[in-house]
Amino acid sequence: MTKITKAEWMCMICASASHDSDEFGRTLEEHIKVQHGIDKKMYDNLLKEGIGASKLKVKMLNYPNDIKLPMISFLSQTWGPTFDLEKYTDEEVNNMIKIALNGKTLSTVFESLNFTFQIDGLSRASSHQLVRVRIGSGFSQKGMSDTYYGDTDYIIPASVIAAGKLEKYKKSMEVSRKVYIDLFKSGVAYQDARFILPHCVTTSVVWTVNFLALKNFCNKRMMRNQSWEMNALCQLIKFEIKKVYPELAEILVPVCDYSKKCNSFGNLFEGCGKYPLEKQHNRYVFESAQIARNIKFNKEYVEKTIFHNKSVKPVNNHFLLLAREKENITKEFYGKYAHDIYVELKNCYKLGDLTVATGLKKIINTFDELYSHFEQYETTNNSVVFYEYVKLNNLEYFKNIIMTVTLLIFNKKIDDVISESWYLHQIKNKKYNDGWYYDGIRGVLKDLHRKVQRLKTGFANNQFNYFQESDLYDTLLYTIFLIVGLKSKLQLRGEKNVEC
Ligand SMILES: [Zn+2]
Repeated sequence: MTKITKAEWMCMICASASHDSDEFGRTLEEHIKVQHGIDKKMYDNLLKEGIGASKLKVKMLNYPNDIKLPMISFLSQTWGPTFDLEKYTDEEVNNMIKIALNGKTLSTVFESLNFTFQIDGLSRASSHQLVRVRIGSGFSQKGMSDTYYGDTDYIIPASVIAAGKLEKYKKSMEVSRKVYIDLFKSGVAYQDARFILPHCVTTSVVWTVNFLALKNFCNKRMMRNQSWEMNALCQLIKFEIKKVYPELAEILVPVCDYSKKCNSFGNLFEGCGKYPLEKQHNRYVFESAQIARNIKFNKEYVEKTIFHNKSVKPVNNHFLLLAREKENITKEFYGKYAHDIYVELKNCYKLGDLTVATGLKKIINTFDELYSHFEQYETTNNSVVFYEYVKLNNLEYFKNIIMTVTLLIFNKKIDDVISESWYLHQIKNKKYNDGWYYDGIRGVLKDLHRKVQRLKTGFANNQFNYFQESDLYDTLLYTIFLIVGLKSKLQLRGEKNVEC
């Protein structure tokens, strides 16, 4: 069995792990360089993109207190003397366990050990494979007919990025998500709306399984011609078991590691090349099956993706959620203005009959108009002109901007956007102390201007991809931040009952 000499790791791209017999004690850095042609920095950036197994989590909820008692009991029943652990020396007990682990006893001995795992961030595609373990298994899976999936996360196989198809993939998922939300808002029940969702959406499963079934599962699903996600699931389960029973973890290996020959899953798939084929049959079903292990990245493409993608927010905006949790910022703390805007948005919601194209045009036109007044303010330094203008005319435009962007692009998470905008507001507040109303708004408007210019270019070239979506998202956040700031300012200046 493999000795682990360096820090433990699992590659999120192909699910190779430090304990694999073919890693030869390589570090993760060495593995990704040889296997995928990238350095650690690029790998980390791909992880931020949410590639491969980066979202998959396995937690062992339950495991046997002791393996000796049930195992020796099982074994001694079939070997003759009635079980009595005290009759055996420690050495004898360890020997018997060793013999069992080497497969030289009835394999049913492993049925005496039960484990329960909580599995999160697994694709629906793979959960279908997992629940085929019917003997010695019990499952409970997150339902789709009683759970809202409009804000669900999804899996991105690394090969999609390697093939340069990330944008297309994300776009397709977002379309499905939008249709799902639209169906739901039109009164279609969860159980019917879910039909539109693709296999990549994530699910959670609680799995109780005896060790014999688990071992058989890992023997098959750890083979390299199997899906990388199933490989990854097995590896993470192995890591969990290794924490308590390393001797059990050691026998969770692909079956070819025992035979040193490739049976390539009954010749159903092409072998990965680790061992020579056991028998050459002429019946490959998937001759050109892509093996995740062999994914090589086009550095240029990945760099380009990551470079342009810096400001794209993760789907669930974990960073901000965590930051809020950490600082114990409550809903009340968001304050009155955020609440007012929230109510406003809810009202605007009824008017949402615009398309993306008219929505974008509207944002660009209204922003241009506002910005020209802002420039005037900058040159004259006459804040009254600008703020009076905003007060008299443009708060209405802001409302339209917020309404349009929210409805058309991000209506799935109004609450999140509002909360975030208020969080940004607080950050700026701290940074600029009381002077932020001047410098803060000025900085925001300038940044907003740059983003709108980029949107404009994209729009003129008839391009709307997720880079622009990211700009739009920022535009929305800043706009709400701005409106909060302006309202504060106008109220601070003694203007009561500001309409917007
Ligand atoms: Zn790898």
